[in-house]
Amino acid sequence: MAYTYDDGNIFARILRGELPNQTVLETEHALAFRDIAPRAPVHVLVIPKGPYVSFDHFMAGATPAEISGFFRAVRSVSETLGLEPGDGGNGYRLIANTGTDGVQEVQHFHVHVLAGKRLGPMVSPDV
Ligand code: AMP
Repeated sequence: MAYTYDDGNIFARILRGELPNQTVLETEHALAFRDIAPRAPVHVLVIPKGPYVSFDHFMAGATPAEISGFFRAVRSVSETLGLEPGDGGNGYRLIANTGTDGVQEVQHFHVHVLAGKRLGPMVSPDV
């Protein structure tokens, strides 16, 4: 599988400190920050620090430490923001848009964490 990572993408620029961001948390392997155009009262993006275009690229190319570090960071976001149902939170939705049909706008793998109200249908009911 061939992947082309463009290091001029917006999230790469955020990682290099060239663009500002509203950081929620940062770890060795991941950065979590507020989405600039939130679609819910809580809308956080979690990105790995490595240069991966997509979920598939990440799973194929990242080390086990990067993979576990990334998903632990996603978990830390929900915990830090008090969203975990097991801890009295009201829950959240994770989304990883991928490729053309997934309507992925930024070509650096990321997971959206959406919460803060009862979210609508997962996708449009038109199939
Ligand atoms: P996706 O369609 O999954 O690629 O989503 C990309 C997300 O990045 C969108 O929700 C945008 O609002 C968000 N976004 C774009 N530029 C920035 C930025 N500079 N800071 C924070 N979020 C951004």
